[in-house]
Amino acid sequence: MANIILLGPPGAGKGTQAKRLEEARGMVQLSTGDMLREAKTSGTEVGRRAAEVMERGQLVTDDIVIGLIAERLEKGAPGGFIFDGFPRTLPQADALADLLQVKGQALDAVIEMQVDDTSLVARITGRYTCGNCGAVYHDITHPVKVAGICDVCGSHDLRRRADDNEDALKTRLMEYYKKTSPLIGYYYAKGQLSAVDGLADVEAVADAIAKVLDKA
Ligand code: ADP
Ligand code: ADP
Ligand code: ZN
Repeated sequence: MANIILLGPPGAGKGTQAKRLEEARGMVQLSTGDMLREAKTSGTEVGRRAAEVMERGQLVTDDIVIGLIAERLEKGAPGGFIFDGFPRTLPQADALADLLQVKGQALDAVIEMQVDDTSLVARITGRYTCGNCGAVYHDITHPVKVAGICDVCGSHDLRRRADDNEDALKTRLMEYYKKTSPLIGYYYAKGQLSAVDGLADVEAVADAIAKVLDKA
């Protein structure tokens, strides 16, 4: 069992790899982005407050996402948690350390997925997902096998995210470099950081992550 963070800019491949780890290792993906989008769909107060901020590409406030994570951690996960898109700020990283400590749990690895900015634009503008099961697709690198139908669950509910456009992506990248990338130095200094080449194909990235996990 391991608790890990997938750290990287928007489009680095965090969600894609998190889904694979769930299947391969029985881990549980905790994506704050997915949780916030679910909160919006279910019409909660948190969802309403977050939706506008997300659409612009800015980060929502720390207390909202920390609250969401704290709630899910309570449920536990025998195979461990994959933190996908959390933490994104230093206060979030400190809050996670505290939450895990209270539960007597460790953070076993922080995996930095390295992808250059030019590739991120192509990744983000081609992305679509299944609204039913969360499977992640791409127009060019990973299209569905039958047009309009999810390979995994057969749903017809394939969607693009409101913030997956070049304008919002610019803001998201700026937020990443200003607020999230300092976490790379933070976890490096704690001796927890491992980097993988996020530009490799999906299988090769999965292999690189598996190597880190087997050492953790
Ligand atoms: P993140 O969760 O980090 O934002 P995603 O996993 O949603 O990233 O991936 C962004 C887009 O890039 C998706 O359309 C996905 O299909 C595609 N993608 C993910 N990993 C790779 C890869 N290794 N090579 C090519 N395309 C990828
Ligand atoms: P991506 O897959 O492109 O990295 P996410 O789905 O993780 O994007 O996040 C989408 C949006 O949700 C972010 O741009 C931000 O507005 C909000 N969000 C998600 N996670 C966090 C977080 N940990 N802290 C603050 N805002 C977050
Ligand atoms: Zn599906």
